[in-house]
Amino acid sequence: VSDNPVEREIRASGADDSVTFVFPSDIAAALWLEAALGITGRGTIPSGRFIAWDRFKERAVQATVAGKTPVSAILRQLYALDLARRNREAATPIFSSLIPPAYADTSAAFAPWIARVLPSLALLERRRSRSSRAERDGEDRDLVALKDDYARFLEANSLFEPSWQLPPLVDSGERFVVFFPEAIEDYSEYEPVIEDAPFVRAVSAFGSADARPAIPTSPGARGGKGPGQLDFFDADPVTDDPTGDEDELSLASYPTTRDELKAVALAIENLLREGIPPETIAVSVPDLDTVAPYLTRELALRSIPFEFRAGSPLGARPSGRFFALAADCVASGFAFTQFKALLLDRSVPWKDRNLAEDLVSFGIRNHCVTGWREGAARIDVWEAAFRDPAYAERGDWRIGEWYGKLSRALASLVGSAGFSEIRNRWFSFRESFLDVSLLSPEDDAVLARCVEELASLAALEERFPSLVPAEPFALFVSVLADKKYVRRRAETGVNIFPYRVAAGTPFPYHFIINASQDDATVMYRPLGFLRDDKRSRLLVSDSDASRAFFNLYRICPLPAPRAESANATEGTVEFSFSRRTFTGYRIPHSAFAREEEGAFQATDPFALETAWLLGRGSEPDRLYPVQKAAFDAWRARDGGRNFSYLTEPFGERVEPLTARVRARFLKPEGTLVTATHLNAWATCGAKLLLGQVLSVEEESQDAELMNERNIGILYHDVLCTVYRKIRDEDGSFRKERADTYLEWLALAARDSAGGYAEFRGPLAAPLIDTLADRIIEGAAAVIRNDAERLDGFAPVVLEGKFSHSSDGILYYGQIDRISADAEGNAVLIDYKSGFVTPTADYEVSGEGAIGDFQIPLYTLLAERAEGSPCKGSKLGFAWFADIRKGKYQPVVHDRETIPWGSRSRLFSREEFEPSMQALARTAERYARALAEADFTRPKELPWTECASCAFRKICRRVYQVRP
Ligand code: SF4
Repeated sequence: VSDNPVEREIRASGADDSVTFVFPSDIAAALWLEAALGITGRGTIPSGRFIAWDRFKERAVQATVAGKTPVSAILRQLYALDLARRNREAATPIFSSLIPPAYADTSAAFAPWIARVLPSLALLERRRSRSSRAERDGEDRDLVALKDDYARFLEANSLFEPSWQLPPLVDSGERFVVFFPEAIEDYSEYEPVIEDAPFVRAVSAFGSADARPAIPTSPGARGGKGPGQLDFFDADPVTDDPTGDEDELSLASYPTTRDELKAVALAIENLLREGIPPETIAVSVPDLDTVAPYLTRELALRSIPFEFRAGSPLGARPSGRFFALAADCVASGFAFTQFKALLLDRSVPWKDRNLAEDLVSFGIRNHCVTGWREGAARIDVWEAAFRDPAYAERGDWRIGEWYGKLSRALASLVGSAGFSEIRNRWFSFRESFLDVSLLSPEDDAVLARCVEELASLAALEERFPSLVPAEPFALFVSVLADKKYVRRRAETGVNIFPYRVAAGTPFPYHFIINASQDDATVMYRPLGFLRDDKRSRLLVSDSDASRAFFNLYRICPLPAPRAESANATEGTVEFSFSRRTFTGYRIPHSAFAREEEGAFQATDPFALETAWLLGRGSEPDRLYPVQKAAFDAWRARDGGRNFSYLTEPFGERVEPLTARVRARFLKPEGTLVTATHLNAWATCGAKLLLGQVLSVEEESQDAELMNERNIGILYHDVLCTVYRKIRDEDGSFRKERADTYLEWLALAARDSAGGYAEFRGPLAAPLIDTLADRIIEGAAAVIRNDAERLDGFAPVVLEGKFSHSSDGILYYGQIDRISADAEGNAVLIDYKSGFVTPTADYEVSGEGAIGDFQIPLYTLLAERAEGSPCKGSKLGFAWFADIRKGKYQPVVHDRETIPWGSRSRLFSREEFEPSMQALARTAERYARALAEADFTRPKELPWTECASCAFRKICRRVYQVRP
């Protein structure tokens, strides 16, 4: 007699077609049906004899609800939405507590919750009638009203709610063996009617093998009891005592989940190497969502074939996303972010992808951020931009035409009044805009399933026309978000299940990982939607089914024949857990009596290869395909590669590069040095090469009205205009005229904002005032600071371009402003609307370097350049104007001439001399490097610099692997 209770029962009555086997899940039923062929030796068995508990409930009660059909989840949703609509429209809302009257207008938001509680309402009523302590409050009254209303709906439409039906089961000649009631959430509700039905028998998850009689043979089918057989009437009742031999449960523990996954993968690999077929192996994983990527990697690295047997929502699959993206897009009024997500989604098979991409770049060019309302009218930002584009290009008319058609088709699809209308419009949309032949077979299958869902909704619409919700497309999207889709199995492999799904299945080899107290606990909470105090008044309590599940995993595996030899081998079930998981520290589940340290396989080829490379072991005797492929790829690259600009100068090696460097940097007066170039090169030569020589720029992928660079341009422009007017009208800054200057500033800001091409486009006009206010606020702080510190100073240089050449170097820069007083004190000012270099960065380091070259370079130009008003004298003041903070930050400063309260570090001109020399030295090295086209990365450059560098994905230094 087998130890396996399912096998024993099938062996006993598998041949009797009047016996139906009932399992906790569909998967267990399907897998035992397959196994039953081998156990009974029959060629075929009707699939209706192996069913899941939910099907049993429908079938067993069907006889008592003749002429009715079971209600479905989607019908519950339709009913709940209709009820929500009635609640909203009623003069006095139907509910006072389930949907608070204050929220009656948004009743639809409560519909999903209402749909979920509907199946439990009969249980609630039964419990309430049993409990003497049940009180009635508004919520209770609402729940009674809900049940009555739902019951009327079911009756009127010849439907029944399977979980409400607890009539005495009718003996129609069929017999049922219900496996593992402890693992079935609502079994206890059915226990009384099952006990009264002699033709239904339950087999416990805890019953010891010897104690269970091997029975059910139908006397009718077999013509009476055979020797040693009992009939259903004599069978043991379900064993409630969860003791049995569960104490034998033990599990292996690992320090971390990675160790656990590695050990499991190596154990599976060993089985495969022994010839065990992968499809006979299963892995069950609590918290699969977290573990799945790591498990996938571990198995894929070792070339172990596997198959996830977990469904994912249809709406989350690549091609199933289309409908949600379309809904978002229309709901947002074709706002750039939502529209871009739809247009650029790689799984949407646009007939002409170029048009979709061109439309996105048109949106970026023309700042099509979002539509807006003007009074009652809604302005479509795209249409406005096509009428009056800020940056027009020749092909725009084609994109405009396509946009018009697409936006109308999407709006009409999403705005459909019913499900069949959605279906018709979907087909015509698909016809006009999509080419489904571009989809992969998998994506195509997903899309077909979505359309099937739509077809069932359309069928329901035909049968229940009054239930069609106000926004059918939104309901369709939510159905797709809920509906689980399990990928069609293309190939065989190790089966990976979410926890519980494959409990009680016959897989000969089953690994249950992550069996910790937190992750593997299974609690059933009947009437969980009620408050705990109400549940306890109704004598409803939680039940812990964790042990039942562990036992199912333990007792159900069948022995497996080996692929190579025909010998049957014992199956194995291995439980394991790790003390440190990806989401925190864990303890083993308390159901396990013993915990053993998990064993590590000493034959991991990755570990052997690493040890060998480090000289700590001998050459690995085998390699995974991925190791071999990596080695071959490395060898192939190494052969052809003999130069890297990160480590060696180009010299004359690349002619066009030499020509470009000459044209841009090697001027007749000397090597061109600007602050931007020198700052980039001093950090890393590759930065100068990529950014300044090759002009690689980060492309903006978003439509934005103003970016910080554009705002910076505006500040400079406005301040230059105002100070030019001060110079022209007053000669120098006059404190008493500050209010007038602020008025000039306001005018200049509005003019400038309107005049800049960056700020054109349909959205610019409504926002230009906001932008101007921001500019005024920032620039006004400069004027107020000047009133305090630079009264009487004349703006002698405004946006002045200066150059100076010496020792083969041509220094160049554009100085925002120099203001000077009658005594010849000159203040150089550089406006900054973004990051401001801290003054301490100009301190010369032990290696003779400084962190920024801007102020030294400008100081040099102010003192030496032709045309500078300070030429020939030392510049006493060089400041940053920090616009964001609204204050000056001096670098070079003489406190005696212009008092400065702050105790922060300031350099006198003499103290600044070492920084000036650092500039000269760096410029010399820079000139030599350019002459050799040397753009190497400094050896001592910290990795963190590369990690935050905008060019890291191009130069790829951060991805280099070094032994
Ligand atoms: S990633 Fe590093 S090496 Fe590459 S350009 Fe940037 S700083 Fe230089």
